[in-house]
Amino acid sequence: MIEISNLHKSYKMGANSLHVLKGINLDIKEGELVSIMGSSGSGKSTLLNILGMLDEADEGSYMLDGVPIKNLNEKKAAQYRNKFLGFIFQSFNLISYKTALDNVALPLYYQGFPRNERMDRANSYLEKVGLADWAGHLPNELSGGQKQRVAIARALASDPKVLLADEPTGALDTKTSYEVMDLIQKINDDGRTILVVTHEHDIAQMTKRIVNLKDGVIIEDTVVSQIRAMENV
Ligand code: ADP
Ligand code: MG
Repeated sequence: MIEISNLHKSYKMGANSLHVLKGINLDIKEGELVSIMGSSGSGKSTLLNILGMLDEADEGSYMLDGVPIKNLNEKKAAQYRNKFLGFIFQSFNLISYKTALDNVALPLYYQGFPRNERMDRANSYLEKVGLADWAGHLPNELSGGQKQRVAIARALASDPKVLLADEPTGALDTKTSYEVMDLIQKINDDGRTILVVTHEHDIAQMTKRIVNLKDGVIIEDTVVSQIRAMENV
């Protein structure tokens, strides 16, 4: 699903430049649930943003579902993003004056889905994340965990092949974090490829494979032998 090879990325800072990704090689197969772990500043978000086509590498190649991602114009890039990628962020990024249902439906509006289908999909994904009864509520009427569930439903609404989550539990307490990871495991059980960026070991243990990033290189890539589930938290 994702194949990257010798990926490099630097940020220019005045006369200097900061070399953040220093030759990343990574293959992720369809249906995997992978965490990218590393301390703050190790380049996790930079890598995820490139995988999410929000940013471009300086060097190296990126193939997404067999398609080379390079020098795409903005229209093509947006098409691929919509078709392939769903995003979840630490800060939820919900629109405060729209209901849970409308938040989930909004990306479908921009993608040109007719109203009936938008509402059908939004309702069914809200149900999937356990929030059918909260469809008419505004974000500030929801708990942190519920907000992240709405954001997950929104990311799933366009049925992307890959879900990219940048510190999805970063703003949540421990118990709620495990609940959100439990939901992410369930979504992966349906066969969806998921990448979770985290700096927390316990969260990474709830995925199937941990890729450890340090100073812009992968220092470890291991299969999780016993995946942590809610039961043994
Ligand atoms: P992580 O997500 O692992 O905390 P990031 O990928 O956000 O790490 O950042 C890696 C390094 O790149 C950090 O030193 C950060 O300050 C720097 N950085 C990130 N984004 C930018 C940017 N847009 N411009 C300049 N430097 C950046
Ligand atoms: Mg980050």
